[in-house]
Amino acid sequence: MRRKLLTFAAALMIAACATTNDNDVNTTTETAAPAAAEAAPTPESAPPPPPPAATAADNPLLATWTGPYGGVPPFDQVKVEQFKPALEVAMAENLAEADRIANDPAPPTFENTIAALERSGRTLDRVGTVFGIWSSTMSTDDFQPIELEMAPKLAEFSDKITQNIPLFRRIETVYNSPDKSSWTPEQQRLTWIYYTNFVRSGARLDDSAKSRLSTINQQLAELYTKFAQNVLADEKDLYVVLDSEADLAGLPESIRAGAAGAAESKKLPGKWVITNTRSSIEPFLTYSDRRDLREKAWRMFVNRGDNGGAHDNNAIITDILRLRAERAKLLGYATHAHWRLENTMAKTPERALELMEAVWKPAAARVKEEVADMQALANKEGAKITIEPWDYRYYAEKVRKAKYDLDQNEVKQYLQLDKLREGIFWVAGELFNFKFTPVSGVPVYHPDVKVWEVTDRTSGKHIGLWYFDPYARAGKQSGAWMNAYRSQQRFDTDITTIVSNNANFVQGKPGEPLLISWDDANTMFHEFGHALHGLSSNVNYPSVSGTAVFRDYVEFPSQLLEHWLSTPEVLQRFAVHYKTGEPIPQRLVDRIERAATFNEGFRTVEYLSSAIVDMKLHLAGDRPIDPDAFERQTLAELGMPREIVMRHRTPQFLHVFAGDGYSAGYYSYLWSDVLTADAAEAFEEAPGGFYDKGVAQRLRDSIFSVGNTIDPAEGYRQFRGRDPKIDALMRKRGFPVPRTVMPKK
Ligand SMILES: [Zn+2]
Repeated sequence: MRRKLLTFAAALMIAACATTNDNDVNTTTETAAPAAAEAAPTPESAPPPPPPAATAADNPLLATWTGPYGGVPPFDQVKVEQFKPALEVAMAENLAEADRIANDPAPPTFENTIAALERSGRTLDRVGTVFGIWSSTMSTDDFQPIELEMAPKLAEFSDKITQNIPLFRRIETVYNSPDKSSWTPEQQRLTWIYYTNFVRSGARLDDSAKSRLSTINQQLAELYTKFAQNVLADEKDLYVVLDSEADLAGLPESIRAGAAGAAESKKLPGKWVITNTRSSIEPFLTYSDRRDLREKAWRMFVNRGDNGGAHDNNAIITDILRLRAERAKLLGYATHAHWRLENTMAKTPERALELMEAVWKPAAARVKEEVADMQALANKEGAKITIEPWDYRYYAEKVRKAKYDLDQNEVKQYLQLDKLREGIFWVAGELFNFKFTPVSGVPVYHPDVKVWEVTDRTSGKHIGLWYFDPYARAGKQSGAWMNAYRSQQRFDTDITTIVSNNANFVQGKPGEPLLISWDDANTMFHEFGHALHGLSSNVNYPSVSGTAVFRDYVEFPSQLLEHWLSTPEVLQRFAVHYKTGEPIPQRLVDRIERAATFNEGFRTVEYLSSAIVDMKLHLAGDRPIDPDAFERQTLAELGMPREIVMRHRTPQFLHVFAGDGYSAGYYSYLWSDVLTADAAEAFEEAPGGFYDKGVAQRLRDSIFSVGNTIDPAEGYRQFRGRDPKIDALMRKRGFPVPRTVMPKK
């Protein structure tokens, strides 16, 4: 949708996010203005646009999507060299549309201004969607220079829309219209969104300030692209080669197979390669008995973007922070963090920090206990070591086995990717009455991608399409995320949604079922939660559709869905042994439950340290920042346990520096999780538990289907009958429940 385009650089980069508590959704909740768009069938009598330089006839990216399901992306026709001309034509078309709306001789109305803007920008929306998919999943050497060239141009384009004075005047007039009370609540909120987004993007600034703002935005767009490409380069170019059986000590068969496959693709047959991505490094750190190799792999991973040389991100970060601070001042905000948090549930950086600090203390205290357990075990084994960061996952796994008799590898035998995918479909059927049917003949951008049609189980009505791109490959960002290719809307005609889930599972041997870890299974449910949020959308206008909600609310539906993985209904049906087909034994389920809060100190601290550093970097104002020194100092002040490193160190923090999307916003996962935990208890308290029809209906009506048509705080109240409390979150993580409640507005 439009908003995606205005934050193009951000949206394109897709923060490459990793497991359980921070997978990303690639529809940024960015609050820049919705841009403008295509001359779709419209009741207006605007003149046709001038003939563009390239046309749909010679550039398929520009064409309306054709084929079944209301049209599908023409992935089979994409050529990388078509992106630049297609984007240029689409931007010019969108600017012309914006000008037509701005210069309409008729007095401004909701219909001829706001609805007209919602109708505009459709060509750019389509081209941008495919461009974004290439950026995140097909970022080849020939694509990267084009992306680097186009990022500042797209930023400049966005500014031209928000700095269009006659257009802003019309939006302002509509926003202040005395008729407003006769519109639907959705129309009123949409108008408020346009108005505040334009103001927040500098529509009220004088000409010289606007010009400076635009320069800053273009420079930032280029820096974001470089930042992401540098991380990708370190993930691709650096790896650990295992030469012999001795180097494989402790590694289970599935990791060996993945490492052998990776070696093949690096032209190192007969060896094994641990690539520099989270999906490859974390299992290695968990299982490798070779402490020297663990340290080597750990250092490689935590130093991505921080190695000096051509792909070092430190100077880029300093520049980004300086430009962001200057931009915030220009726009009239104390800091970048204050600007970014204005349109969120938290509203201010102080409230977000208050929540983070409330959770930090019990989490850091828990880490001390966890380390003591690990150290005791290492001592007992006679290891003669002090627990270091590269030992944490390894000994945590041993403690898990010893304390709970829970072996992740044993659990994994019951977690087949394909079966779990059926499991999430089944959950969607129980909760939302959705049915998933595989389709063939729909073009895909890579043979790994498969497509399903989503329909209503009862009526058979078409709801949307779900694309699934599960495997890691070169040129694909690491982590997992959801993306909306097309937003549901129906203000002119009924347009159904197309969404995708993307992951980085390491492919094993061909023909064998892919077994995944419990954490990865959680991630699947998480991303599928985002997909369901998109698929459930039932709104009129695309800018408020699906996952286009406040950033600190968008992780709520996805984190909530994680809870269904451990329901007995799912485990008994879909967690079946890959050889015997037997469901996961109850004794194992009991152990999983008993170990539910195990290692929560580690998980919370590695996440929160990143979130707090992110916020403090953006509260620091316009003094020059040395990222490494700032990170060290902030962590020291925080009392960071020496055995843990930030989940995303600053030089590789894609959420924060590959775009504006999650900048001063990594706290969002925790904020959302307060809602998640509280909402999960609503199911636990219901007679039907997690499959209670009444609670599921309320969830759909007040949260999953409403997009950004209502204030999320209000939507939550409708669902829960009250405001969220922090207590459930603390219970979920096994921390003591404090007396305070979630900070009030
Ligand atoms: Zn997410």
